[in-house]
Amino acid sequence: MPELFIGGRWTAALDGRTREIRCPADGSLVATVDEGGPEDAAAAIAAAREAYDRGPWPGTPAAERGRLLLRVADLLERDKHVLARAESLDTGKRLVESEFDLDDVANCFRYFGNLVAAGGRDRIVDTGNPEVDSRVVHEPVGVCALITPWNYPLLQTAWKVAPALGAGNTFVLKPSELTPHTAILLMRLLAEAGLPGGTANLLLGAGATAGAPLSEDPRVDLVSFTGGLVTGRRVMAAAAPTVKKLALELGGKNPNIVFADADYDTAVDYALTAVFLHSGQVCSAGARLLVQEELHDSFVEDVVARARAIPLGGPFDDHARTGPLISAAHREKVEAYVAAGIAEGAVLRCGGERPDDPELSAGFYYLPTVLDECTPGMSVVRDESFGPVLTVERFRDEQEALALANDTVYGLAGAVWSQDVGRAHRVASRLRAGTVWINDFRPYVPQAEWGGMKQSGFGRELGPSGLAEYQQVKHVWRNLDPRPLGWFE
Ligand code: NDP
Repeated sequence: MPELFIGGRWTAALDGRTREIRCPADGSLVATVDEGGPEDAAAAIAAAREAYDRGPWPGTPAAERGRLLLRVADLLERDKHVLARAESLDTGKRLVESEFDLDDVANCFRYFGNLVAAGGRDRIVDTGNPEVDSRVVHEPVGVCALITPWNYPLLQTAWKVAPALGAGNTFVLKPSELTPHTAILLMRLLAEAGLPGGTANLLLGAGATAGAPLSEDPRVDLVSFTGGLVTGRRVMAAAAPTVKKLALELGGKNPNIVFADADYDTAVDYALTAVFLHSGQVCSAGARLLVQEELHDSFVEDVVARARAIPLGGPFDDHARTGPLISAAHREKVEAYVAAGIAEGAVLRCGGERPDDPELSAGFYYLPTVLDECTPGMSVVRDESFGPVLTVERFRDEQEALALANDTVYGLAGAVWSQDVGRAHRVASRLRAGTVWINDFRPYVPQAEWGGMKQSGFGRELGPSGLAEYQQVKHVWRNLDPRPLGWFE
């Protein structure tokens, strides 16, 4: 069966091109899928435009749209294991992690389903004039282009698809060329749940060819993009001539700040999961460890000892605790950052190379790496390596911790560890990041907004603001007793 989904039909790429999808854990062929290009993008946009302008979805009552999202949540739960397996084969991620992701995906649809069904955002304005009916209503934005990355393919998709549909939009989804499978399966579930044809369209293909036209095309009203900073800038520039509504969820270089009075064992444990889960390919990874001077030596020693012992392996290896990087090219990028860090004076404490286990040689593995004695100017500290690489910097006091933590163009997330509640909240309030954890790292819930400050982007996903991104506000004024003004008599 062909894999592009356009206007309610499964179709092959117009020029017949295909792409091989290989599992990053061992290079094995997962499947060959259709590879769309600019003509397919145009067809998908036309289908979404037609469905928005003349189809039933935008006018479907909110309660019914909400119910459809809840049906999708049920179907996602029914097919959880099939979807999790597909996600793991595409990404190389451990199956258990994909299963956690799938729970979050279903929760996301459930949250937005209930939020939309509850309604209540429109309001009647009290103008003080009894002869006027004045209302502020929330309408869909129109045709949305949803562009998603490879690290959490279905989760990032759910964060966009659920509110976009909930608000009554139609869309073209362009997942990463590396990880298309769960997007294909989601389209089937949306159709099974009863979504009208043309409302949801799936465009597979490379970002530069299939993805780029989405930001340029005047028929697209909104682009919601999750990906790297450089691509985000391109999307923003391409969307400017047609003044599209934009939401950009870009990268992060997130500080994990540990004060000397932190709960030591817990902070060590979380310093590891913050950066080495999913081999660091997480936008909110705690890749910059900032440790208070007096704690530094023992803390880093303990982190290094435990990092050395992390077992690597493929999605179905029960012994493994983290997996491969997404591709050979990505591993080379991570290697280059580590080499640059060492050349600039960082001290390699562990990792810094590929594992020598012959069983892992066909995959894109890289050992958990700790670089000590780092300084803010180093490229490995500044840029997002998006790999299992932890940089360590020391600080003397609260002020220095904050200065180091905020010394980045990014502002996605950060954490502070301290048993002094006043200090923890002071630091949290001055960290320029969209999410701050105190004595924790990583949790998020669909009820709370997610997004960045500074060059981590703008717009919010999840929470009520995550729905608002896909709505536009209109003021409707009705004169209940119209009469001539007589001004020009
Ligand atoms: P990229 O920016 O390379 O790609 C993201 C998506 O954009 C992919 O679907 C890609 O397609 C597509 N794309 C590439 N070029 C264009 C273009 N010119 N126009 C339109 N679309 C294009 O990011 P990665 O996939 O490498 O993902 C990793 C990045 O995502 C990291 O920087 C990470 O921090 C960020 N991210 C941010 C999150 C957040 O919540 N803020 C969450 C998760 C990840 P293709 O892959 O086919 O080239």
